[in-house]
Amino acid sequence: MTEWKSGDRVTFDSTTYCGECHYCKQGLVNLCGNRQVIGVSCEDYRRHGAFAERVVIPHFGVCSIPDEVSFEQAALAEPVSIALHGVSRLPISGGETGVVVGTGMIGLFLVQALKAAGCGYVFAIDLAEDKLALARELGADQTFVPGKDDIVGAVKDATDGEGAHVSVEAVGVADTVGLAIEVLRKGGATCLVGNLAPEINFPLQSVVTRELSVLGSCASAGEYSLALEAVASGKIKVDPIISAVADLKDGASWFDRLRNNTEGLLKVVLQP
Ligand SMILES: [Zn+2]
Repeated sequence: MTEWKSGDRVTFDSTTYCGECHYCKQGLVNLCGNRQVIGVSCEDYRRHGAFAERVVIPHFGVCSIPDEVSFEQAALAEPVSIALHGVSRLPISGGETGVVVGTGMIGLFLVQALKAAGCGYVFAIDLAEDKLALARELGADQTFVPGKDDIVGAVKDATDGEGAHVSVEAVGVADTVGLAIEVLRKGGATCLVGNLAPEINFPLQSVVTRELSVLGSCASAGEYSLALEAVASGKIKVDPIISAVADLKDGASWFDRLRNNTEGLLKVVLQP
């Protein structure tokens, strides 16, 4: 759909880009040097907007919301697109064993995205038991708590002693990146999505001698429509990730609650 009319149910890809550079021409719009992200305040790609009753957006970012998808569900297209993009970086053709390290909001979408991409068996790892319960509800076949379970041993036991084909890291500190690498079989691939720490110790010899692929994934590159389709078809469930739907006027206090997050909140949707 290219012509829009008043009343159409739409959402928008928060990434804006130039459409002219060599990255954009290859579809790698997340790598565009002129990228901006609507509603995000990092200096590099700040573009104000989004928490408002009206917002101006480029026409090429507008996406139609399928009838089956509510506005609240559509509000989660952004994190779903990040998970779809991360998984798209990995070599998955069907039947692989996958591991997700960190089952916060993005990790819970990664579990579902790995399954949707064809992984036959998915392990999920987190310190929080309640998030692992949610991961199982959303398709994880087996879950582990670091420091409590022998994770690498258990993954090997379940994979004829080989280890997983692919893993995705959604935290971004040394221990969890190390885990995402150690659970892999020789020749396996990990995609790093989390990046809490700017630098970490890195298990260089384990990667080199086992010929692993280590891939980075940043934001998304046009996966919004795919995300909305996945939500519409039920391949990716977003309702369990929405902790609350609140009025925009109460937004500031919800930001405080999320910042302090002692309640295990995942995503809060604000209604203008
Ligand atoms: Zn560009």
